[in-house]
Amino acid sequence: MKVLYMNLFFYSLLLILGVVFLVWIKANESKWIGSIGEYRVQKEIEKLEKFSPGKFKVFHDLYIPKKDGSSSQIDHILLSEQGLFVIETKNYSGWIFGNESSKYWTQVIYKRKEKFLNPIWQNKGHIKALKGWLGEEYSHIPIYSIVVFTPRAQLKSRIHFTQSHVIYPKQLKKVLEQYRTKAMDHETKRYLAEKLKALLVKDNPKEREIKKKHIQSIHNHQKRIKEHVRQNRCPKCSGSLVLKKGKYGTFKACSNYPKCRFTEKVL
Ligand SMILES: [Zn+2]
Repeated sequence: MKVLYMNLFFYSLLLILGVVFLVWIKANESKWIGSIGEYRVQKEIEKLEKFSPGKFKVFHDLYIPKKDGSSSQIDHILLSEQGLFVIETKNYSGWIFGNESSKYWTQVIYKRKEKFLNPIWQNKGHIKALKGWLGEEYSHIPIYSIVVFTPRAQLKSRIHFTQSHVIYPKQLKKVLEQYRTKAMDHETKRYLAEKLKALLVKDNPKEREIKKKHIQSIHNHQKRIKEHVRQNRCPKCSGSLVLKKGKYGTFKACSNYPKCRFTEKVL
């Protein structure tokens, strides 16, 4: 009898530990998958460096200060004599729909739809910030936009984009090889590299603080908008939001239209 109880106790304990472990895995899943996706892009960049040593100067995780005191974060910049390549990585899974001209793209995962800011627009913003920061002196240097989706995503809108490449990590090498025109001499490249170094977040506590604030401010901003919309309050002008039906489904719109043009899709 005693042995039976011991066994029962043992198996219950095992079961509880198993459940705790699974819950923990589930909770950290997206974080891990996110870093795996980011890792793939890094890996492709490392391959490039190995394949053509010295051709690219590579910078990861840069923060560009803007005039209004905020900052713009860039995942990777590749610098070659052909110009600057600004890379934005996206770790979304599921089906991805979007085109160049719409503000939001859509991720469809199982039956759920989520919208996210058009990554081409987002990267355009980064490039604008970079141009502003580099100043007139470097305005002749071409800057190219590359948006990289990890293979977890299925890009469903494979039309040709004109303002940015939208690719998987494996295509990075081929895309870069398309650019052959020399845009700067060796000396300029060296100067630019020195300049870009200043944008890196290393162990500099001051810069780390900027990074933390940056993430916090994005987070707070999104939270505030969501909360406003949930309470049917316009986040732009505090007017009330009303439910409307349009060609593309139901959305919430500001009642102060046309003075305020805030809308939010109801998914
Ligand atoms: Zn409004």
